[in-house]
Amino acid sequence: MYKAIFIDIDDTILDYIPCCREAFDAAIEKITDRFTDRVQNTELNSDELFELFFSISGRLFSEAKHGLHSVAEVMELYPAEFCEKAGYGPAAVEPFKHAFRAAWGTTHTLVPGAKDLLEALREKGYRLFAASNSFGYLQRSRLEHAGVLHLFEDTYISMDIGYDKPDIRFYEEALRRCGLPPHEVLMVGDSMTTDIIGAQQAGLDTCFFARRPSDEKSPATFQIDDLRDLLNFV
Ligand SMILES: [Mg+2]
Repeated sequence: MYKAIFIDIDDTILDYIPCCREAFDAAIEKITDRFTDRVQNTELNSDELFELFFSISGRLFSEAKHGLHSVAEVMELYPAEFCEKAGYGPAAVEPFKHAFRAAWGTTHTLVPGAKDLLEALREKGYRLFAASNSFGYLQRSRLEHAGVLHLFEDTYISMDIGYDKPDIRFYEEALRRCGLPPHEVLMVGDSMTTDIIGAQQAGLDTCFFARRPSDEKSPATFQIDDLRDLLNFV
């Protein structure tokens, strides 16, 4: 029934929190090692720093899902707010931002079952497309490091597409690029807002990946809590 599957990346294919921690630790090490002239001392230990960073970026990305900022704006806002609140000072913002981004591009911890699922879907003949809100070059680099980029026919990433999920224009442009009508494509992702509601508004069927215990029954066409269970529906 479906010819293609659009698949979210973060917290669907790649495990967001360990990737985030890895890039964060690398960025902190780099700025406190190489930019000592610009970086003020912080009172916080490394776990407290990460907790602060994660809460700030989480809040801003959640606001972006509701249209308060674009994803591109969030990428600028969270390094600034983090450096200020951590006590690193404004001169640390640019070095931190660049160090984090450089490290992020190689982070590639897979969600359990992700590679098996992608390979099985390809074997079944589905065309696979990544659908993510971020920078295209970073997401492609991460998928490549994870050994799964070759399983995707193309990557639809918001900064390349020109719109962020859940904007219906993101999905319309992605459909235009793969040349398929909405009823021939299934969208799979862990975000109710960006992946499920957004894709439904564009006319796609959806599969909600309920990763967190707090996730409740969704209005998606299908719901799974293990990626491999998608094979029961397609
Ligand atoms: Mg996600």
